[in-house]
Amino acid sequence: MARVLIIGAGGVGNVVTKKCAQNQEVFSEICLASRTLAKCQKIAQEVKKLYNIEISTAKVDADRVPELVALIKDFKPEMVINVALPYQDLTIMDACLETGVHYLDTANYEPPDNPKFEYKYQWAYQEKFEQADLMAILGCGFDPGVTNAFCAYAQKHLFDEIHFIDILDCNAGEHGHPFATNFNPEINIREITQVVRHWQEGKWIETPPVIEENSVHFTFNYPEAGPRESYLLYHEEMESLVKHIKGLKRIRFWMTFSDTYLTHLRVLKNVGMTRIDEVEFEGQKIVPLKFLKALLPDPASLATNYKGKTVIGCIFRGIKDGQPISKYIYNVCDHAKAYQEVQSQAISYTTGVPAMAGAMMVLKGLWSGKGVFNIEQLDPDPFLETIAQNGLPWQVVDFEGDLPE
Ligand code: NDP
Repeated sequence: MARVLIIGAGGVGNVVTKKCAQNQEVFSEICLASRTLAKCQKIAQEVKKLYNIEISTAKVDADRVPELVALIKDFKPEMVINVALPYQDLTIMDACLETGVHYLDTANYEPPDNPKFEYKYQWAYQEKFEQADLMAILGCGFDPGVTNAFCAYAQKHLFDEIHFIDILDCNAGEHGHPFATNFNPEINIREITQVVRHWQEGKWIETPPVIEENSVHFTFNYPEAGPRESYLLYHEEMESLVKHIKGLKRIRFWMTFSDTYLTHLRVLKNVGMTRIDEVEFEGQKIVPLKFLKALLPDPASLATNYKGKTVIGCIFRGIKDGQPISKYIYNVCDHAKAYQEVQSQAISYTTGVPAMAGAMMVLKGLWSGKGVFNIEQLDPDPFLETIAQNGLPWQVVDFEGDLPE
């Protein structure tokens, strides 16, 4: 029985809140706080209707440590789940340290003026969390999050040595809009317009961004979704996995994009709408990407008519008992089923369920320790069992297909 404070009432916050409410024996008191109180209240009303549970709500500016500290002191949670934006990671970590509360998030910090997400800012909190006898769990969504746990599981149960990891993220869903992003548009577009990197033999290798003509891509035949064009992309979990997976020779991350999506993004970039610096407009300063975010559909609103599935998983190649083996661990999630259950699309669903499960691991004492942790550093077994019981079943199969060398 524990009190949990959830910060961020967007697409993911909606799922985390409802999933915590479904597990009331662990999360006995829930408070949902965000910048816009009305969003928290709407989710609270739905929770009351769905599960007959009252949760508290609060307005907080999570960029401001004193506001966070006052809220935490007032609600007295054992754990804070941060599903606001990556910009708020450090302020929320500071507030957790000041009040003696465990911390969990789903995306690593990036400074607003530099779209290079890196763990260095949050790994720098290692000593502070250690000294405070607290846990900070980093990147506990699906990717990062479950993908890291799949790697830990493969290392623990399937391989003596893992040599190659390919993480494949496919959204084979249709939402009916000509162009929309599946999570926060600003964060999403910053991520996918970057130069791509993958890791090989101790070095990061750069290739062109996914919107460039010479980007690296191939067709992968996804279970239940069929063949989809998959693009090499930099993704944050690779940074911690190269530290923690023994014997690794190469790790890559692939994501599916449709031609229509890439064409829209190319045009938006070419006309300057993805810029993150301020421009002068009719006597005001505006950031084009933030303005674009205001025009695009709210990712949470896509859920109503979303059809199709997401398929996210990892392919491992390595050695077991002296023999080369290949394994594929993946989850398939259905957009419409996620909507039926918690009024969400599958991207928010696959992020929110692991965030709830990670918090549950800490509160039940199944994950323990002091300091800052990436998911592959923690026991994957109870976590993967919990996500399977809470709507994200996963499978391990022998992999017999082809991947680009
Ligand atoms: P949304 O934009 O839908 O929601 C973010 C919420 O945070 C909004 O309700 C927003 O409030 C609130 N917020 C923003 N700034 C502040 C602030 N200063 N103080 C308080 N609240 C604030 O995003 P998503 O729900 O789609 O994503 C949430 C997080 O999950 C992001 O960090 C994203 O990167 C991460 N994510 C991780 C994935 C994974 O697999 N690991 C996959 C998908 C997302 P308001 O509406 O009032 O602006």
